[in-house]
Formats: sequence, structure tokens, C-alpha cells
Amino acid sequence: MCLPTFVDIHTHIDKAHTCERSRNLNGTLAGADAACANDFQHWTLEDAKRRMGFAIQCAYAYGTSAMRTHLMSGEERQSKIAWEAFGKLREEWRGKVELQGVSLSVLSFFRDETKARALARMVKSYGGILGAAVSCSDAGGTPLDVHTTCGADMPKLLDVIFSLAKEYNLDVDFHCDENGNESSKGLLHISEAVIRNNFKGSVVCGHCCSLAVQPNEQAKRIIDAAREAGVTVVSLPIVNQWLQNRDPTNEATPTRRGVTRVKELARAGVPVCLSSDNTRDQFFQYGDCDMLEVFRSSVCIAHLDRPFGSWPLALAANPSRAMRLGEKSGMIAPGAKANFVLFRARNYSELFSRSQHDRVVIRDGVRIATALPDYEELD
Ligand SMILES: [Zn+2]
Repeated sequence: MCLPTFVDIHTHIDKAHTCERSRNLNGTLAGADAACANDFQHWTLEDAKRRMGFAIQCAYAYGTSAMRTHLMSGEERQSKIAWEAFGKLREEWRGKVELQGVSLSVLSFFRDETKARALARMVKSYGGILGAAVSCSDAGGTPLDVHTTCGADMPKLLDVIFSLAKEYNLDVDFHCDENGNESSKGLLHISEAVIRNNFKGSVVCGHCCSLAVQPNEQAKRIIDAAREAGVTVVSLPIVNQWLQNRDPTNEATPTRRGVTRVKELARAGVPVCLSSDNTRDQFFQYGDCDMLEVFRSSVCIAHLDRPFGSWPLALAANPSRAMRLGEKSGMIAPGAKANFVLFRARNYSELFSRSQHDRVVIRDGVRIATALPDYEELD
């Protein structure tokens, strides 16, 4: 089996490898938010660089050639550390792992137009992407969620984001609908805002879990709007299986899978990507930025194997296009760079049944070293 090198379009490497020092006590999304805020006391530029560099090194060894990471951008001091570390690592890794950064703040952040404009300017200075969390808490889509749903103000706040993105010529990337609430329709609101603002940049929506609990007719309406708006949807099946539908008391077994309607989206013509999301942090206690693990788990969680069809596109070609990495990036094609991964397997069953730790990664026609860094480097 041979696959193009992977493009991991949705990660959070600024938080990576912090799960042991700042534990998520009950394993829920709310527990993650609380423990994540608590972890900031440990952040320095050196700490962030070490953890982020470790994550990139692992991704590179597993065969990833480009990564987009969301960066904590709501609180000023934390934002400064995350973006500075990102900027340094992007230079260090250029030509090996192309890095893109997205600002991550809640929708209510954009109520303050002065702060919002300063954020857009900072993102522009790093060549980054403008982001926000929309209808994305456990209470997303309800009046209880004042930070990411913002009641009747959501369309107005989305218009602020899109007008800043147009003014500063930025692409956008949202977290949305990371819950199981039928009333959570961030994807619909974002799609309508794209059309209303006549926005022509690249628009990415990650998670979209609540689409799975919409009645079929409603889901179809949302999917049609996403297609019309040209939105790319990113599903994060491993993390959402771990985080979604978790009982805070840890007595009940989960019954939902947390994955969005990837098949219906793809069939309707919405580009779908599969990605890592969090790595050993408060939102997911495991993971190592291995896109083969993402592929294998996604196949089992979302039943992508009858048939496998074009699902490999979700790991390289589709994210490459949304990230504007170049016409032939993410593909094995005449004239494309010789960037691919070879596995000791002749079919998907053999591919997914072993760890593939002995894979061969070829970059620009040359085999690279694929030893993983030792965890002690994080001590
Ligand atoms: Zn995320």
C-alpha cells in the first residue's frame, strides 16, 4: 500500500503533551476547558516550543508533510506565547512539515471590535488563519451558552469575523457544534454568513457533531447550505468519540459516537477531511499525530469501509486544497513531489491490522529517518 504524505488540517499542538500535569478530572468537554485553563500557569515560550516541536517531530516521522494548528488566542499573554513558539517552529520545519496557525477564541470575543481588529492584524502578521468557536460548548445552541452561541447575536458576530477576514484577506477556520444538541446549528449559521457576506476565501468547519442528531430533513438543509457556501468539513472522530456523550459521573456507557454525517456530506459534494485534533492534552488523553491511526479509527467509527472508495482523499488531497498548499499537493501524480508513505500491506485489511511502525516515508524522493522522540525529552 502506498499513500501520499498526510496533511493534518486540525490539530492543537500548543496544548499537546500536557495531560499528565493538568488532568481533565471527569473526561468531559467542560472538564477539559477547566483543566486547560488551569494548565496556562505552566506555559513559557520554552515549554510551548518543546511540546509543539515534539508533536511535529512525531507527525513528520509518521509521514505527515503539512499541519494546521489552532492556537490559544483569547487571553493576551497565552496568545503571545503560542504564536511566538509557532512562528519559530514554522521556520525550523519549513520544507519538512509546512505549518499553518489559526487563532482560537470564542465567538463572544468578537463583541469587542477593537480587540477583534487587533487579533486580525496579529493573525495577518503571522500569515495565519482567523478562527472562532461557534455553538461549540456542551450547551451549544442553547441560551446557557453565552460564549460560543451568543443568543440572537450570532449572525451579527459572524459578520464581524467575515468582514475582518475580507479586509485583511484571511481564510477562516471554525470550531462548531461540538455537542449532541439538536438546537446547535453553527454550521448552518456559518454557511449562511459566508453567502450573506459573499466571502470568497477558504472556509473550514471542524467537528459539526450535532449534525448527527438533526432529523434527516433538517440535516439535509444544513448540508445543502454548507455545499452552497463552499465549506470544507473536518471530522475529528477519535477525539470526539472520547469526549462526546461522556457521563460526568462516569457511570453510564456512551451511546453516541460523536462523529458528524461524513458520508452524507461527501455524497452531497462537501469536501470532508479527517484529522487528529488533540494530542495528549485535556481534550484527549492519548494520540501521537499519526494520521494512519486517524484513518484506521475513522474507518471503524464511521464505517468508511463498504466501500473505502475515495476516503483516502480525506487525509491528504482534500485538506491540501482547503489549506491552499498547491495544485498537486496531497496527491501522487506526474509532476507532483515524490512525497509518499509505503506500508508492508497489500490491502486495507493488512494495512489496518498492524501498527505499521515499520512504514517507509519518502520525502522529495529520499527515505527519511522515522525514529520517534523519547518521552523523556518532555520532562
Ligand atoms: Zn479542535
